[in-house]
Amino acid sequence: MNFQLTEEQILIQKTAREFADTELAPGVVERDEKKIWPKEGVAKMAKLGFMGMMTDPTWNGEGMDTISYTIAMEEISRVDASAGVVMSVNNSLVCYLLENFASNHIKEKYLKSLASGEKLGAFSLSEPQSGSDASNMKTTAKKEGDHYLISGIKNWVTNGINSDYVILFAVTEKEVGHKGISCFIVEKGWDGFEIGKPENKLGIRASDTCELYLDNVKVSVDNLIGNEGGGFKIALATLDGGRIGIAAQALGIAQASLNASVSYSKERIQFGKPISINQAIQFKIADMAMEIESARLLVRQAAWKKDQKQNYSHVASMAKVYASEVAIRASTQCVQIHGGFGYMREAGVERLMRDAKITQIYEGTSEIQRVVIARSILK
Ligand SMILES: Cc1cc2nc3c(=O)[nH]c(=O)nc-3n(C[C@H](O)[C@H](O)[C@H](O)COP(=O)(O)OP(=O)(O)OC[C@H]3O[C@@H](n4cnc5c(N)ncnc54)[C@H](O)[C@@H]3O)c2cc1C
Repeated sequence: MNFQLTEEQILIQKTAREFADTELAPGVVERDEKKIWPKEGVAKMAKLGFMGMMTDPTWNGEGMDTISYTIAMEEISRVDASAGVVMSVNNSLVCYLLENFASNHIKEKYLKSLASGEKLGAFSLSEPQSGSDASNMKTTAKKEGDHYLISGIKNWVTNGINSDYVILFAVTEKEVGHKGISCFIVEKGWDGFEIGKPENKLGIRASDTCELYLDNVKVSVDNLIGNEGGGFKIALATLDGGRIGIAAQALGIAQASLNASVSYSKERIQFGKPISINQAIQFKIADMAMEIESARLLVRQAAWKKDQKQNYSHVASMAKVYASEVAIRASTQCVQIHGGFGYMREAGVERLMRDAKITQIYEGTSEIQRVVIARSILK
């Protein structure tokens, strides 16, 4: 067993760290407050090859392993979790899905520009009545000759406003449950396709989240991904990998909380001494460091298993639940260590607490991850 990162992985870590500190850090508090999408940051991430990290170079990706991806995700999210989720959706939900399940025609037409970062993708599974129970979706795709007519409402679509293409799930056959769900790629701007207002969120406020309204949107049969009725399996397989990315996002938030806690506790003087000399503060820092290191091991293990083509579903769930809970605990303690200043926007640490919360919810809540983990153990 070797815990040492490869030279390439170390280089990615350095590149992502420097990029995040120099390009994303300036303005991150303002972008969060005013809900400003990180347009320039995303364009620069594309130049660095961060938008299609694991996609094969044949399709304009970087052909890197999943561990490298988690390293970059952690570093980006350490500074700006909103930029982290934009990157995560494009990499692990959109490019991964297309590379593994779409036809060469779709890969040529869409994946190449998505993996290079020239275009941006979104992944639209959830609907108002179907979140955890995603198979209960109501959006329909009715086949008419060489095309489908898609109608329905999708909600909480990350990148929904700024993306060019959307991976969208719809029911092609009713009354057969998840076996009647199919997967499509749909272009923004097609007739009958409307984008909702940006949601006003607790955290990751600089990322965009919106509803999508589809009214008889005409989608060619060439834009069907996989087989008719095979969409739900594609969604679940894709989300397994996506959860590793979200776990890495949570890890970045937790690491940022530790870093801020260490520096502030050394600087802040109370009773004539830095607060870091108090054991109560030291124990918080020790607990954060222990938990972060454990979460990182789980994230890397899940990524490694995926790269080794081993079954990684339950480990990805473990990594997501654990890392997201560590992010919640670390960011809450970080605000506590900052005292009243931590409660002020200006300190920039209350944002970590707000950003951490979503990692327990999207791409499958912590409760659903526990269902997946328990099922894999009890089977
Ligand atoms: C900011 C944001 C961005 C998002 N981005 C996307 C996106 O890009 N694409 C997309 O498709 N979706 C997206 N989502 C949707 C997200 O994946 C869902 O919110 C999530 O899956 C949970 O679904 P729900 O909100 O409907 O909660 P519900 O399913 O209604 O669950 C409510 C509560 O009940 C619990 N619960 C439900 N079923 C069970 C069970 N069987 N056992 C135990 N507990 C249970 C849940 O864990 C949760 O605590 C996003 C959501 C948010 C908030």
